[in-house]
Amino acid sequence: MSVVEGKAMTAIADVAASRTFDGVDLHALAAAIQTPFYAYSANAIRQRIAGLQTAFDGLDHRICYAVKANSNIAILQLMAHQGIGADIVSVGELQRSLAAGIPAERIVFSGVGKTREEIGKALAVGVWRFNVESADELALLEQVAKEQGACARAAVRINPDVDAQTHAKISTGKAENKFGVSIDEARRWFVQSSGSAHLRLDGLHAHIGSQILSLEPFRRALRRVEDFRRELVEAGHEIRSVDIGGGLGVSYRAGLDRPVDVNEYAALVREIFASFNGTLVLEPGRYLVGEAGILLTRAIRVKSAGEREFLVVDAAMNDLLRPSLYEAWHDIVPLHDRREPARYDVVGPVCETGDTFARDRAMTRCRAGDLLMIGGAGAYGSSMASTYNSRPLTAEVLLDDGRYAVIRRRQSFAEMVAGEQLPQAWNET
Ligand SMILES: *Cc1c(COP(=O)(O)O)cnc(C)c1O
Repeated sequence: MSVVEGKAMTAIADVAASRTFDGVDLHALAAAIQTPFYAYSANAIRQRIAGLQTAFDGLDHRICYAVKANSNIAILQLMAHQGIGADIVSVGELQRSLAAGIPAERIVFSGVGKTREEIGKALAVGVWRFNVESADELALLEQVAKEQGACARAAVRINPDVDAQTHAKISTGKAENKFGVSIDEARRWFVQSSGSAHLRLDGLHAHIGSQILSLEPFRRALRRVEDFRRELVEAGHEIRSVDIGGGLGVSYRAGLDRPVDVNEYAALVREIFASFNGTLVLEPGRYLVGEAGILLTRAIRVKSAGEREFLVVDAAMNDLLRPSLYEAWHDIVPLHDRREPARYDVVGPVCETGDTFARDRAMTRCRAGDLLMIGGAGAYGSSMASTYNSRPLTAEVLLDDGRYAVIRRRQSFAEMVAGEQLPQAWNET
């Protein structure tokens, strides 16, 4: 069975036609929960996980979900129940993962800005390995491990200098990006670290970017990593893990985006790493959750300005930042039966011109109060949300076979301003 088929019916056209998502009636849901809110299909996520696990079946591998894609604890618990680990980039993500039941030994810690405090905490709980991105960080990791009387397991993040052919803001594997180190630098690290009592540098890591829609960038980057691994082994270094990162793209434009087939991706990985007998680590984020989520919103009003018509909805850039930040496309579908065509600039209420979900978008004519869904909102949606314009964080709902559970209440005003206070005592430093 293809991973996009099955009862969850995540294809946006199916959801639009049936007005149901994972068996839940969307109009009834929106009557019970104030819009805007996110809804995620548990079955769609499970299907993605199963598809990936099947594709890599028989290969020594671990899937560590990139928590930043959607870090709701209920989503992380769903991952934990499927045996998935976590790829974290902060202590906050570490705490969420542990709270959700993902064991420390399934957690990898990535990121260019790990602080001494963060390294200390992650080491103390026993995370599986650190993906190290600079010489300074490597030295700090060794020092903190020594102080704790521990031995840190580490992989070096290689910057393979490959163009991921994706949006510049989500491209991470070019030499000019801040991520990883060159192969020349990594080579020196292996020489310097061999024999360290507190640092076991025995892994390689590469993550070249996100929303990648072709196998070619993966092929080029992974070949470089594998060539380097062989060179290291010939030089007498032991490499126990190769982390091939995340980056698998999803479909944001129904019928137009053509995501990589995971079976072809897995075949490529099998071919390139045929002579490697350690553990392969995968860090998918968007691929597991992106198409499993929608953002439900209602039209506030239609505003005409000369030729243009603005459809003002109650969701905004603070809820879903991707269109403003990356000029990302999201399919937007009104959930009504009227047929009259219209073209809208779909905008939110925030006081920014950038608060635009779509420009001159063809859809059916809408009225105030109409329910619409914004597709492909499961990844980098709620996890990037803010309270800009003093708009509370939206609710999130998990759907599972006709049932739903609120997995984040809509933030109250008191919660939004918690921590703010008037100056009570003025301190001098
Ligand atoms: C963001 C990130 C990922 C996940 O990327 P996706 O494109 O969502 O799969 C994986 N690894 C690292 C190091 C990341 O920073």
